[in-house]
Amino acid sequence: MQKSSKSLILKRVAYGDADWIVTFFSREFGRMSGMAKFARSSKRRFGGALEPGTLVDLQFVGRNGSPLVRLDEAVALRSTNGILKSLDRINAMARALELSISFLQEHQPTPEKFDLLDRYLTWLNEHDPSVRETSAFEFKWLTRSGFMPGLERCMRCDKDVSRGANWVFDLDNGSLLCNACSSSSIAKLHVTNGALEGLYKISSGNFDVSSEKAMAAERILHRYTEYVLGKPLKYKPL
Ligand SMILES: [Zn+2]
Repeated sequence: MQKSSKSLILKRVAYGDADWIVTFFSREFGRMSGMAKFARSSKRRFGGALEPGTLVDLQFVGRNGSPLVRLDEAVALRSTNGILKSLDRINAMARALELSISFLQEHQPTPEKFDLLDRYLTWLNEHDPSVRETSAFEFKWLTRSGFMPGLERCMRCDKDVSRGANWVFDLDNGSLLCNACSSSSIAKLHVTNGALEGLYKISSGNFDVSSEKAMAAERILHRYTEYVLGKPLKYKPL
């Protein structure tokens, strides 16, 4: 049976002389992959709608015994033309798509993550991102993936973070630890006061923070993301 779904194109890989294998994020069905026959040799059916980052209305059919669906039609609802105007926008999009491919499970619908990614790509079509926006996206992505960084208090002794300095970020638990509790932590990052302020502001959507502090916060989020995934990401933050 043919299905229709609003989807974001995450990635495509050439197959044979004429086809694409496309990884996409369906709002209704989650991450999926499909074969777009003759999409490279003929633009008639798909046009530019299979470019990574494009929002499409996708028609596809499941095939018995195959992990790949058959893509029949893709109509672009939003192109990436605005994003392709600047390298910073392209890099931010590439990182967001890589995060999505890495975190999303096949066939598990997560409409709240779809909407987050969709809003971010819409925004990137119109704006050059700063580290504040890119790290705010990453914070929200981690949160909606079940890895919200714990920033309020020491995870072990419950000490309030506002009391004194010398905090570390424990990568195994994704939470702050005070200096006294941090000795048993195996994988930890030192957190400067600037990084702490950056993390607080970005997590609450307050972008009134210097880019230096935002970058210090982003470094922690980036390291935490790679730790959660257990692999380095190809696209780095700004
Ligand atoms: Zn403690």
